[in-house]
Amino acid sequence: MLRLDKIHPLISGNKWFKLRYYLEEAKQQNKKTIVTFGGAWSNHILATAATCKMNGFNSIGIIRGENPANLSPTLLQSQAEGMQLFFITREQYSQKIIPAELNTAEDYFINEGGYGVNGAEGAATILDHCHKQSYDKIGCACGTGTMVAGLINAAQSMQEVIGISVLKNNTALQEKVQSLLQNEDRNFQFIHDYHFGGYAKYKSELIDFMNMFYQQTGIPSDFVYTGKLFYGFYQLVKNNSFQPGCRILLIHSGGLSGNSSLEKGMLIF
Ligand SMILES: *Cc1c(COP(=O)(O)O)cnc(C)c1O
Repeated sequence: MLRLDKIHPLISGNKWFKLRYYLEEAKQQNKKTIVTFGGAWSNHILATAATCKMNGFNSIGIIRGENPANLSPTLLQSQAEGMQLFFITREQYSQKIIPAELNTAEDYFINEGGYGVNGAEGAATILDHCHKQSYDKIGCACGTGTMVAGLINAAQSMQEVIGISVLKNNTALQEKVQSLLQNEDRNFQFIHDYHFGGYAKYKSELIDFMNMFYQQTGIPSDFVYTGKLFYGFYQLVKNNSFQPGCRILLIHSGGLSGNSSLEKGMLIF
């Protein structure tokens, strides 16, 4: 397992990798302010806030849903990192409508979840942090598909990248990933069986698994992404989906702060 959860407490996991080339481009274009989109529990929002602060950018987060009476810990932390938050309705969000009071003509925009070519190029550099030739299969969780696209681009042709989708009926994933790929002859597949009801949905079976996995390995996971990834691979191994001796690299893409939305005591870590 490649433990990207250990990189930084706020810019954890894959998010710094996905953001790095956007920020470089913003710097080259002399932009002062970065604008991006996300929900109340978005790791991408928090990572953008923290990375912008570290790199001297202002940051604006356009958040899905009405301004709640109590901000989520993710949004509170993003604010503490200097991000200005603006709330738009779900309908407005689906069209990414910018609030009228904001003048963003000079700003640099990053898609929700860092989706895009720069995001995938950044994610491709994840594999610089391990001896990637040593593995036959590379597994990761998929939201927007940006990370998995980068991994597919960085993988070698005899390797297979396996993406576990954390969304329900995510039929758009294939196409979204395909449009970020640089090479036709890559080996990859998506598995849609381990979403547990959809994005950020879970069942007690998932929570029990995450606790058991922590007990056995000392590795914490989050219920939105990596818990579903590890659960999925655990099942695949149990079902003899891999040849004996197959060498599997799993990407721990971080996201542990998302567990704070769970009731206290559900997780033993
Ligand atoms: C954002 C995130 C992902 C999903 O990455 P995509 O590039 O959107 O597919 C996976 N794991 C964790 C922990 C994340 O925070």
